[in-house]
Amino acid sequence: MSIHIQKVSKTFGSFQALQDISIDIESGELIALLGPSGSGKTTLLRILAGLEGLDEGAILFDGQNITNVSPKERKVGFVFQHYALFRHMTVFDNVAYGLKVRPRKTRPSKEEISKKVTDLLALVKLDNFADRYPSQLSGGQRQRVALARALAVEPKVLLLDEPFGALDAKVRKELRRWLRKLHNEFHVTSIFVTHDQEEALDVANRIIVMNNGQIEQVGTPEEVYEHPNSPFVYDFLGNVNLFRGRLHKGKLTQGQFEIDVPTYLDSYDDAVGYVRPHDIQIEKEPLNNETVAAKIVHIHMVGPIVQIELKREDVDEYLEAEIPKEHYRELNINNGDTVYIRPKQLRVFIPE
Ligand code: ATP
Repeated sequence: MSIHIQKVSKTFGSFQALQDISIDIESGELIALLGPSGSGKTTLLRILAGLEGLDEGAILFDGQNITNVSPKERKVGFVFQHYALFRHMTVFDNVAYGLKVRPRKTRPSKEEISKKVTDLLALVKLDNFADRYPSQLSGGQRQRVALARALAVEPKVLLLDEPFGALDAKVRKELRRWLRKLHNEFHVTSIFVTHDQEEALDVANRIIVMNNGQIEQVGTPEEVYEHPNSPFVYDFLGNVNLFRGRLHKGKLTQGQFEIDVPTYLDSYDDAVGYVRPHDIQIEKEPLNNETVAAKIVHIHMVGPIVQIELKREDVDEYLEAEIPKEHYRELNINNGDTVYIRPKQLRVFIPE
């Protein structure tokens, strides 16, 4: 089912939680709503579910205006951060619940329900847990039950509000795989809220970045990561080094650095260059006039990537660089060494 969100605004008292939000979501997309706490992600999700009203704008499902349609009639599945399972029901009954409470006319037979629940539990690898109660499951298992339960009623849209937020890192990773797997299987248009950029980049086919009740950027993970359109998105989507300096005649100058930038940019005294850690080049010897000296203050190994913290020698600034482990070995560098660095790629934003 496609979703069109048209000029949606929402206030709570005098507080504007959403401001003129418009997005078109195609059928079968897996979308991450990404943003800091309070940016309006949950409010937007609740409006889509029909659990919250809106002040202005409209929501269309498959071209039909459903703004005033009740949550029940929207055919939306919802998964919350805190597994809202029925504690007094077994896993089987939890997953079967949405089917059992259907009006008699549309209710599947007992056998059909049983088959469907069994299939879904097999899919989330909980076939041997059908008779257990939620209290006898781990957090990750409960969330898998919640996913199976949401899918049992064949929703046209699946909405997930920080579904893995309460779980530890390893289980989160596993559940991300589940979400992708279930999505590949069912192709239900799905939107999940997260404030974890890695989760959004890893799972979604498109990311909606929100800030202060507005959309900052919409794009594929690669687009928002590689081509952020604002300092906020740059900052929010990963580590970044800032080079504050004077922009003049195609050069950003900071300390001994003179970094080439597109010449169409005007002159500014306080421009900011943004550089991702993997775009910092490290050399053992100075390279023409393009590099500046920096001292290694910390080396941190994370699998095949080595993170290196550096302190510039020309100005009082710290930097973070990331290089592949092989390159690190070739360089043969240690804590306390002086190396020479330069940004390979830099994006300049002018402060407003
Ligand atoms: P988080 O990641 O912390 O859940 P969020 O991006 O989901 O944040 P929302 O829950 O949508 O943010 O809240 C957006 C803003 O609206 C917040 O400042 C919040 O305090 C406010 N808000 C949300 N619901 C209500 C409400 N029922 N009454 C008053 N203010 C509310």
